[in-house]
Amino acid sequence: MERTLILIKPNAIQRGIMGDIITRFERKGLKFAGIKMMFMTDTIVNEHYAHLKERPFFPYLKASMQAGPIIACCVEGAEAVETVRLLVGATNSRKALPGTIRGDFSMSGEQNVVHASDSVENALIEIGRFFAPEELYDYESAVTRFEYGGEESQKFM
Ligand code: UDP
Ligand code: MG
Repeated sequence: MERTLILIKPNAIQRGIMGDIITRFERKGLKFAGIKMMFMTDTIVNEHYAHLKERPFFPYLKASMQAGPIIACCVEGAEAVETVRLLVGATNSRKALPGTIRGDFSMSGEQNVVHASDSVENALIEIGRFFAPEELYDYESAVTRFEYGGEESQKFM
């Protein structure tokens, strides 16, 4: 099964909506392989957002990610990377569709409550950035056969 990384950003923790956000992913049927609270160091922020370091908003983004702890989640499911990006919505929350997490919980393009990996390749790198192998759990879900059809089970599991 495919895995992806989600970060619940400090603004979401401050606003008391981390439970609502986790619930969105749970309700969808994504399986949590790992979850932890941590502080993003300078090194980890610079690495995680290296593709944006020349952008004028980078100092603001960095400060916002270090304003408090984050919650890192590794979730698993068929085509999890793409599915989670759809659930999260557009980067600018004001343009994110209602029904998406950003569309429902945020007014901001910066303080947009969650991060999600944008490709299968980046998901692998990002999961390794936030989780040691022993922090990720492989366990049987009792409901998988009610969440996926037979053909999907053959294809994705
Ligand atoms: N960001 C911002 N202003 C911008 C674009 C991005 O403050 O114009 C912040 C925002 O918090 C976003 C993060 O930088 O989530 C990473 O940007 P990216 O383009 O990777 O968007 P994402 O993958 O988070 O949708
Ligand atoms: Mg991104």
